[in-house]
Amino acid sequence: MKIFVPKETTPGELRVAMIPSVVRKFTQNGFVVEVETGAGSSAFFADAEYVEAGASIASDFAAGCSGANVVATVRPLGSRAQGLPKECVAISYISPASDTETISAVASAGASLLSFDLVPRISRAQSMDALTSQALVTGYRAALVAAEKLPSFFPLFMTAAGTIQPAKVLVLGAGVAGLQAIATAKRLGAKVSAYDVRPASADEVKSMGAAFITLDLDALVGEGGYAREMSEDRATRQRELLTPYIAASDAVITTAAVPGRTAPLLVTREMVETMHPGSVVVDLASETGGNVEGSRPGEVVEMGGVFVWGAQDVASSMPVHASQLYAMNVLALSGLLINEGSIMVDLEDEILDGCAVVVNGEIRNQVAREALGVN
Ligand code: NAD
Repeated sequence: MKIFVPKETTPGELRVAMIPSVVRKFTQNGFVVEVETGAGSSAFFADAEYVEAGASIASDFAAGCSGANVVATVRPLGSRAQGLPKECVAISYISPASDTETISAVASAGASLLSFDLVPRISRAQSMDALTSQALVTGYRAALVAAEKLPSFFPLFMTAAGTIQPAKVLVLGAGVAGLQAIATAKRLGAKVSAYDVRPASADEVKSMGAAFITLDLDALVGEGGYAREMSEDRATRQRELLTPYIAASDAVITTAAVPGRTAPLLVTREMVETMHPGSVVVDLASETGGNVEGSRPGEVVEMGGVFVWGAQDVASSMPVHASQLYAMNVLALSGLLINEGSIMVDLEDEILDGCAVVVNGEIRNQVAREALGVN
């Protein structure tokens, strides 16, 4: 069994789907590992380190694909997927609604495609949950960005020159990224509070030493424990009720998402402008529509003296550990494919059934079929 790890080609993507210290774990599972030359360089892993760990180096994508049973990347392969061998399994993030080029290329190659976006959130799948592992990175980073951009301290200081009060940080959305942002802001000494539409998140927020904000609104819990979309009335009311909390914060970090939907608008420009000049807003949802009105991915937008930082490729800004966690997710997911020394997508397995978008050339995900107009 051979796993091939190509170099990422998406601009700004610095992660890699395999790191040298994980190569040996694959070889213990019976894989031969091949890595495209330079694949790890933007995450600071040299070809020589992969070779030392037991991998071989492919001169290009076509050479690496030759004889590969599994091809793992972070980003979708795009048109390169046409070069996959028949019955090979490609693993990456894949949005079934929008990554249609990759999906149809995999199908026309007669190969299979597993998406990390679709791995079920069940306990057996935790080690394969790349959404969680990468959200850990983005949440951590969001708190660091807020601390770095704020023109004042995060912690309390009691000095001979007087006392400095800790920064007030508000986190909106207390899922995986939000909880990590809370934990990191707490470690840096800020006074943290948080709000989420799922009441179950209240205990998690409190267990991190942060205050949970309860608003006089219905809970919004949908399928699988995820949040549901808000009605426009509820969204307006939520924004009204949150405004005083925003106005009183030095830094606001927004992480709210609803699976399969654009990010909910939690903070309007008017709300941002109620904050004291010099305050900071970090919008982790900027790339998926934005939780903050007017935020732009990869840019800092000033609104009435408040700086709104729009997230872009945040996990890529820490490519070393983001790649390490991702490679371990690939290891766990590809482990499910091993069947008596060969590779197959066993659809009896709930996890593979959930995340297999294409199997041996057949597009089986309904959203992908609709997006491609397949009957
Ligand atoms: P996510 O990225 O989809 O959303 C982030 C957060 O935004 C969620 O907590 C959501 O409730 C919140 N949100 C949505 N709309 C909001 C609004 N209008 N206002 C405020 N907050 C809003 O979520 P996630 O971080 O990927 O995970 C969320 C859920 O999945 C949680 O229940 C978590 O415990 C669960 N989970 C389970 C597993 C597992 O069992 N393997 C792994 C990871 C996460």
